[in-house]
Amino acid sequence: MAEGRPLIDGFARKINYLRLSVTDRCDLRCTYCMPEQMRFLPKAEVLTLEELYELAQGFMARGIRRIRLTGGEPLVRRDMVDLVQALGRHVGGDLDEVTLTTNGTQLARFAHALADAGVRRINVSLDTLDREVFQQLSRRDVLPQVLAGLTAAKDAGLAVKINTVALKGINDAEIPALLRWAHGQGFDISLIETMPLGEVDDVRLDRFLPLTEIRRGLEDEFTLAPSEHRTGGPARYFDVHETGGRIGFISPLTDNFCAGCNRMRVTATGQLFPCLGGGEQVDLRAALRSEAPEREIESALDRAMLIKPERHHFRIDAAHDAPALARHMSMTGG
Ligand code: SAM
Ligand code: SF4
Repeated sequence: MAEGRPLIDGFARKINYLRLSVTDRCDLRCTYCMPEQMRFLPKAEVLTLEELYELAQGFMARGIRRIRLTGGEPLVRRDMVDLVQALGRHVGGDLDEVTLTTNGTQLARFAHALADAGVRRINVSLDTLDREVFQQLSRRDVLPQVLAGLTAAKDAGLAVKINTVALKGINDAEIPALLRWAHGQGFDISLIETMPLGEVDDVRLDRFLPLTEIRRGLEDEFTLAPSEHRTGGPARYFDVHETGGRIGFISPLTDNFCAGCNRMRVTATGQLFPCLGGGEQVDLRAALRSEAPEREIESALDRAMLIKPERHHFRIDAAHDAPALARHMSMTGG
């Protein structure tokens, strides 16, 4: 595919990374992500597999080189592996990589198919190794299933990064053990600050934990040396001397990383959000379903470049406990 004009936003940032949500549905109900009675979109509103692929091609034509599939839970979408296979054929050509963020519940079934389709690394979200805490946090008793999924991913040769949302009073005390376990398994791990996206049943402020605090705690036990490692994402990495592994910190609230932003997000209904923390939006589904989809997608992407904001304005404190944005993380996929 011939590469068209690159996507450069109003702040001279080159956008070459797409996070594509393939469904808003999920088999878990993590308390920091969604309410227990979450209402999902009617399936008719969600893009078809063909539309998702066509859209991805529109992005590739403008220089997107990495695509991360996400959700909701991407592996609960039935035709998901077909999409991965279609995109996987571009790896080594238009794409550098196709990756996936998953909660791991379906990995035992799909890990080998993903690897065969060209996926090399995945992010698996796991906030605790305690079955009761897992159940309390995700409202489902499926920790053993997730651990079996991780074993399958390892067997399939997938590189795994564990993503852990740090939650005060829930998993903060467990973080050193999670780090040791992840590194013992040969997995990287990144910690994430909880972000004020969408109404949930919990009070987010009660659970918010600045990662600066976690890092200080870890430094009592481990030697952390700043690492040169970069994945093109917002994490800042440290090598952990005692385990020989790597830990990343994703701190949208305490350490703004927007200056290096290289990404955009598309929801399963084809809404493009140039910023995870902004309300700016471009309708790609309308472009896809127009008379001249190729041209309309191209001009929608140009519009997105004009409206991509310089930075997000997330805050969590006593005066800002309401969600900064009404949409949930499960819509844009993190
Ligand atoms: N279901 C998949 C999963 O859990 O990995 C993919 C989608 S999930 C929305 C992507 C990531 O966002 C997960 O690591 C999850 O822990 C994180 N997440 C969800 N809601 C969040 C919030 N309000 N603040 C910070 N991270 C959040
Ligand atoms: Fe589902 Fe992921 Fe949200 Fe948990 S964080 S409810 S697994 S979308």
